Amino acid sequence: MRTLFIYPEFPKTFWSYEKILELVNRKVLLPPLGMVTVAALLPQHWEMKLVDRNVREVSEAEWDWAELVVISGMIVQKADMAVQIGKAKQRGLPVAVGGPFASSTPDAPELQLADFKVLDEGEITLPMFIEAIERGDTRGRFSANGDKPDVTGTPIPRFDLLEFDAYDSMSVQFSRGCPFQCEFCDIIVLYGRKPRTKTPEQLIAELQYLYDLGWRRSIFLVDDNFIGNKRNAKLLLPALKQWQIERGYPFSFATEASVDLASDDELMEMMAECRFDSVFLGIETPDEASLETAKKLQNTRSSLDESVDRITSYGIRVMAGFIIGFDGEKAGAGNRIVEFVSRTGIPAAMMGMLQALPNTGLWHRLEKEGRLIQEKTDAKGVNQTNLLNFVPTRPIRDIANEYVDAFCRLYEPNAYIDRVTHYYLKMGLPRWQQYVPAAFGKASLPAWNDVRALLIVIWRQGIKRNTRLRFWRSLLKVARQNPGVLEQFLVVLAHNEHFLEYRSVVTREIQEQLAALPPEPPQAPATPARELQPA
Ligand code: SF4
Repeated sequence: MRTLFIYPEFPKTFWSYEKILELVNRKVLLPPLGMVTVAALLPQHWEMKLVDRNVREVSEAEWDWAELVVISGMIVQKADMAVQIGKAKQRGLPVAVGGPFASSTPDAPELQLADFKVLDEGEITLPMFIEAIERGDTRGRFSANGDKPDVTGTPIPRFDLLEFDAYDSMSVQFSRGCPFQCEFCDIIVLYGRKPRTKTPEQLIAELQYLYDLGWRRSIFLVDDNFIGNKRNAKLLLPALKQWQIERGYPFSFATEASVDLASDDELMEMMAECRFDSVFLGIETPDEASLETAKKLQNTRSSLDESVDRITSYGIRVMAGFIIGFDGEKAGAGNRIVEFVSRTGIPAAMMGMLQALPNTGLWHRLEKEGRLIQEKTDAKGVNQTNLLNFVPTRPIRDIANEYVDAFCRLYEPNAYIDRVTHYYLKMGLPRWQQYVPAAFGKASLPAWNDVRALLIVIWRQGIKRNTRLRFWRSLLKVARQNPGVLEQFLVVLAHNEHFLEYRSVVTREIQEQLAALPPEPPQAPATPARELQPA
């Protein structure tokens, strides 16, 4: 069976990093790991090709070659998903869809033309799909009915199907699921609250395969919460460290984790020694009442400021997500986020307005309260340019204006340099460097792409813009006070090339949506946050 995998296009988002990727001559930040995992679960005698639409168009030759089209994506990709399904159907090709969007809303109009809906996790539903194809079926819907597969049997993803040069980082996955119960989170709906992990040997085999294929850049562990099962993470990390040492630390790692990482020194030490350079934390808000409303109680157990500092002291850069628009939120939430981010110095602070995603606890509660303003099939997903999709407890214009103002202030070029400088002055040294065997040398010559990117950033921020004074002053300060992190400091300064432009995308798109609202949009009564707590 000649199978063509198509990964739909993403809209521009906080994470799309176009301007930075342009600088280093890459097209996309991360590859479609789900698709190459599906490819590994299908019969290996099937011929396969993969086109990531974020990298390039599907060629006519590829359409002509295909006998089956497989399309998978998230809610934010649904528009292009519908276009690609339509193109395949025009050519008379059978189409199978799967992934988070299809699994959460299989009856969405965008998926209407698909012949096969392979829902939930593929380890369970792909065997049903394969059987159906082999029987000669022309339609089908396959669901796991709440079952979650053991991922220790998941094969090594077909990384060989990817165009390596297009990606800035590679993705691998160690665990699925998260033990917490944040009300807005769809991860626990899709993957459950009992984290399931691969074995250390399995993950190492995936890394070895990437290494053998020639990959030498960073790796993103796309786990929903890498430390959701701390015991198993601690079993993996010593093996990972050994593997890195034996090869001269070819990969740096980034991942997502819950804030309680900061209370486990052993775990942070192990991650730092494996060369985890950064970690994404869902901080959401410094407002404790809102964290309680969102049932994100793990973020209220210790000081968020101290948590960020502790992780940073291990040489691991914190990236964080923030949300505005929680029930009972007091005016000034955007400002409090800006103050928190400036105080802690977190360079990449992603913000968005709260979205009720289908089937989450938040969705069900708002549905019961009659506050949803969107059908399940219309949900747009989490994007930084989406207004809230429910009736909030304070005026929606206030929330949106605070959000735009906070976003613009966070990425104002001078404020960004100040924040990143403040952060890198307290950043711990990279602990892994002490383990690089002498045979590999501590420094290798930087790639031309990186040198070129650096020169462009110096030109823009250090010469052309009015940031020039601050740029050189900050550079000297970090060079003098914390020289071991200078290279990272420059890389992170470069990130503002994207945010700077993205500020105007956020402002424009939010203002357009606000202009289309009625003069007095509905508002729900402000329920005191603490009254929403379970007993
Ligand atoms: S900690 Fe993160 S992944 Fe876990 S439930 Fe909360 S939002 Fe979801």
